[in-house]
Amino acid sequence: MTCRLWLVALALLFCSTKASAMCRTTTCDPAVSCGADPERCCQFDADGCDQNGKKIVWPSSCVSYSVGESGAPQLELTSDEFSEVLGASFGAWLDHNDCSGAPPSLVAEFYGATSCEQLEVNQGPKARNANIWFFPQPDAAAAIDSTEPSLDSSAIALATVTFDPATGEIWDIDVEIDANQISSSAEGSNGQADFQSILTHEVGHFLGLEHSRDPSAVMWPYYSAGDTSKRKITEDDTLGVCTIYPEDRDIPTDSCEPRGGYSSECGPASGCQVTLELRSQRLGPWLLLLLSYPLLVIRRRFSRG
Ligand SMILES: [Zn+2]
Repeated sequence: MTCRLWLVALALLFCSTKASAMCRTTTCDPAVSCGADPERCCQFDADGCDQNGKKIVWPSSCVSYSVGESGAPQLELTSDEFSEVLGASFGAWLDHNDCSGAPPSLVAEFYGATSCEQLEVNQGPKARNANIWFFPQPDAAAAIDSTEPSLDSSAIALATVTFDPATGEIWDIDVEIDANQISSSAEGSNGQADFQSILTHEVGHFLGLEHSRDPSAVMWPYYSAGDTSKRKITEDDTLGVCTIYPEDRDIPTDSCEPRGGYSSECGPASGCQVTLELRSQRLGPWLLLLLSYPLLVIRRRFSRG
């Protein structure tokens, strides 16, 4: 009998051990200590996943995205070419029946190119928004509010996530990409990064995934120049997206509209923009890998509204 109990205990132990390395992004704030604010701080488990915050998620069955109309002149990349590669990157995550025979319960719809090419979330009765993927242009940097941290020189791309801290509902995600580190050719070249691989990783963040501890996963936080294998998601990535968007989740709406409705233009310069508390999260030292680049620094925005 005792032996059988031990076997049961062992079985429970193995069954409860997470078989993957993926993590979901949560509303926790690594800058806050648990002594100061137990509700907002992060409490990481053995896999490095926060267990304290609300897990972020797009609540609808559809989400829209846009690209900046300038594309990347430095790379001679038009907005049409940009959207084509980005569409393929979304497809890598969402267009396969990977979740027990069904696709993830989220569709991503391209809403076109935006003249607005900056981080922005607007709130108010007439506020419109867009989830913008763009290459920050050097001459536009001065126009961005100086209180907003700019793309870190060591990061290839940066996703800024705005969410409701009470529920984890995602309001807006804008993604900046550093043109100086990207190769727009099919293969990464000249020590630069494969555009589609970088976008596929960023789409993982856009869907609500944190970095993974699995080096083969698309969500592994470091990238080796010229590697095109990250265009295709792995088993670990698949588990992540299917965990966030299972077929049977509660879906309150099927609207693709951004919060407040869509606009391709920037919002008013003053008056209606959300007051945001910004912070950066950097990767833990256990992820350090030589000769690789940090792919992304996730930045979370906590709405005070
Ligand atoms: Zn990343």
